[in-house]
Amino acid sequence: MERIAFGDHHVSYRFGGLTFTSLRDGYVDMPVTRLRKPQNATFETDLPPQIKLVDGKLRLSVNAFALDDGESVTLIDTGASNAWLPSMGALPQALSEAKIAPERIRTVAFTHTHIDHINGLILPDGRVAFPEMSRLLVPKAELGLFRGEARLERFHGSAESFEPGQRLGANIEALAAAGHEIGHTCFRVTSEGETVLVWGDIVHVPSLQFARPDIAWELDADQDQARARRLRIMGLAADSGDYVAGAHLDSPGVGRVSRLGNSFRFDPL
Ligand SMILES: [Zn+2]
Repeated sequence: MERIAFGDHHVSYRFGGLTFTSLRDGYVDMPVTRLRKPQNATFETDLPPQIKLVDGKLRLSVNAFALDDGESVTLIDTGASNAWLPSMGALPQALSEAKIAPERIRTVAFTHTHIDHINGLILPDGRVAFPEMSRLLVPKAELGLFRGEARLERFHGSAESFEPGQRLGANIEALAAAGHEIGHTCFRVTSEGETVLVWGDIVHVPSLQFARPDIAWELDADQDQARARRLRIMGLAADSGDYVAGAHLDSPGVGRVSRLGNSFRFDPL
């Protein structure tokens, strides 16, 4: 995997016979109380010094990823559009910068159905963002959650569900990763012997959670399950040497994981 182009809102990589692009939708600032120790405890005066803060808050990058096989493009997650805060919603700009025409996006797959991952299906002016999209893939366990999102009503009927272990195309397989949300999924993307694990929300705060994978997130549906999953997936990535791509790793959010004693480290690419 090597960088072939980049700009303010994207980085494109040559990936096997394909192009893999990280698209920066923006960022969201969160209070440090979102971080949770075991038993749902917050940090008080014991906040680990390696945590990066911006004006006293945790700044989470919000990223989506595109896989281009030359014929069409598969998009994994879509950013927040105008459904949350104005610091997000740059996906259309990122696509334009990466020279990916929205009409070329035929498949969209969600790691899970939280608002910063699904709302990019609709532009702020109400138009459909990807007019030629023919497959919208939603984790089966979250189809109900997806259909609860009124802003996306026009997609409720056409969404197609998938389950862990299912192949979603020639280059993509869904891996079970429930914890952060009930249907949270990682996508193993392969081409010509290269692999990148598009891991969604396995990590929210990269300055802490590689060193302390035991630290969970207030918004995890099941904090203990999310902890166990993070350990397992990080171990998998470190032992295989595969690349990872994270929705909330600092943009572009692509790199490799390695073991460091009982914890992990991340080396961005
Ligand atoms: Zn998220």
